[in-house]
Amino acid sequence: MYPEVHEIWRNDARMIAPTLWSGIDGIVIDAVGTLIEPSPSVADAYTRAASRQGVELSPVVVRERFGHSFEREELTDQQRALATDEWVEYRRWERIVQDVLPEVPDPIRAFRELWDHFGRADSWRVFDDVASAIDVFQRAGLALRIGSNFDGRLRGVIAGLPVLSPWSEPLLISSEVGFRKPHREFFRAACLSLGCKPSRVLCIGDDLENDVNGACRAGMPSVLLDRSGSRAACQVERFTSLVDIANLFVK
Ligand SMILES: [Mg+2]
Repeated sequence: MYPEVHEIWRNDARMIAPTLWSGIDGIVIDAVGTLIEPSPSVADAYTRAASRQGVELSPVVVRERFGHSFEREELTDQQRALATDEWVEYRRWERIVQDVLPEVPDPIRAFRELWDHFGRADSWRVFDDVASAIDVFQRAGLALRIGSNFDGRLRGVIAGLPVLSPWSEPLLISSEVGFRKPHREFFRAACLSLGCKPSRVLCIGDDLENDVNGACRAGMPSVLLDRSGSRAACQVERFTSLVDIANLFVK
């Protein structure tokens, strides 16, 4: 349903690629999959929540159900024109937990446990390359904002992770902005927060549509962080390590 933004990106942004890095004043960087990941995994956390109610499920099945449920929610997001708030996000996760764990006798308990679990900093781990990359960004004099489709719980998560806690305020969270990535308004809010023109803000993230294509449509340069190296076919600027992106700013 989106235009061929890869083509637009190739035609416009790549033309400025040789000077891209010297023309950047700020960075908006995604959170989940880019800076942090659930630890234990989502599948393990859901499997354990089910087990606490006497329901034993395979993490493989749980992972598959979660993927399908998350995809369905993204379709709902499109129908809602990506508008969101804290209640929309709360309801999203309520539905996902019910979808993934239909066998549990007390679905409200499972939802509350998982809602609380993912709102705690100790349920997340910071990727190993983040501290080094942020250090490089800082030494290059770049302003940094974490911009995420998570909800208000992210504030506590980021504040509780020492490597990232200096960036817990201000934080760009879609449920507070009013629109989820890849909506243009999200990126506009990010640039306003940084006090930079869109063309001078680099967006970094692990989601091709939400982080790369969305930013591109908002007039921002963007790069895909493909930690698993599985997106080689994507015709966008792609890196497998955050440090590799940061090192482009080393003079
Ligand atoms: Mg992400």
